[in-house]
Amino acid sequence: MNKAKIVIFELVLLGITITLAAGITPLQVALSKSSSSSHHHHTKSSSSSSPSINPDSLPNYQTNQSTAHLYFAPPPPTSTSPSPTSTTDSAHKVNKVIMINFDDGWKSQLVYAKPILDQYGYKATFFIPCAKMATAPYWMTWPDIAKLRNDKMDIESHTMTHAHLTTLLSSPAKLAYEIGYSRQCLANQGYNTPIFGYPLNLGSDNPTIVNIVAKYYDLARTGSSPLMFTNCIGFPKDTQTNCSTYSADGKLNLANRYDIRSESFFHISAGHNFSPPEMFQQFVQRMNSQIPYNSNGKIGAFPIITYHNLTNNMDEYDNAASTITVSLFAQEMKYLHDNGFRVLLLNQLGFDPVKNAFYLKNAVPPLETITASSTSPSANPAQPTLR
Ligand SMILES: [Zn+2]
Repeated sequence: MNKAKIVIFELVLLGITITLAAGITPLQVALSKSSSSSHHHHTKSSSSSSPSINPDSLPNYQTNQSTAHLYFAPPPPTSTSPSPTSTTDSAHKVNKVIMINFDDGWKSQLVYAKPILDQYGYKATFFIPCAKMATAPYWMTWPDIAKLRNDKMDIESHTMTHAHLTTLLSSPAKLAYEIGYSRQCLANQGYNTPIFGYPLNLGSDNPTIVNIVAKYYDLARTGSSPLMFTNCIGFPKDTQTNCSTYSADGKLNLANRYDIRSESFFHISAGHNFSPPEMFQQFVQRMNSQIPYNSNGKIGAFPIITYHNLTNNMDEYDNAASTITVSLFAQEMKYLHDNGFRVLLLNQLGFDPVKNAFYLKNAVPPLETITASSTSPSANPAQPTLR
């Protein structure tokens, strides 16, 4: 982040402080600011200035831009019983689940996202790079993170310095520091963090890195898949038959307990900067893409979405692919609420090493998952082509 952005951010914080003194909540500020900023040019080309990609932007992320407009409408539910009684019949019930992650410890997540989450009672998982916190005004402080935890948010580990793990393969000590010591660093602040998040989604396909992650953590999360399959069957072009870490021929499986698949929403891709309304349509499609897999009262797939920075400033939006506007985030959360999605924490994902499958825990009411391979891949409908 350059100086200009820091200044902008500080001005925003200053504005909130002033408004707080005047008795207006940060959410009101956020909503009023975002509604006024919606008149800016959403679709400004990013060609005039090279976009500064956020830390978690996947370097090789590609979206077929022609597919981005194909999924404006959600696919139809596959429930076969349209009768009113079917809504209380678990055999026909369509459960819709999502998990919300926030990476990197941006202050904006506390200032802007949390009040919106609070409106709906939603809880989220925050991945924290321990050594970076409180080192700049746009990162959260430890009291900030305590506020999240005290409201039952999930705090997890995201290395010490947001390291690019695949660049550290020649240094086992550095890998151990970034991966292992980050859990100790968070423990020193009072947080037990059994889940690890790979910065920039780098390293989850490398056995050296995964073996160190496995030494310190129960689970780990990376990108980039629009849906996470509870039995790890159904990823496009993937042949794994369960969620074991390694396949029979000794290769790392695409999805496993150290490779939980999430997705960030990048609005800049293939040279195009998608506007917030365009991103909302993509969000709706992606959230509903789980429906065909969850039609028997059991969860077979669901999206894990990862957010980064939030802003009311359209210039900041235009310059960082993973930055979302506050008003778009509010619109997305309202959509989830109005359409009956259940929001779970990532730490409600459990792994069964006997069945080699994931399950959902501590959900009230309980949610049953499809864990066995009895659901053959051929029984699953084709996955949307969006990555
Ligand atoms: Zn990150």
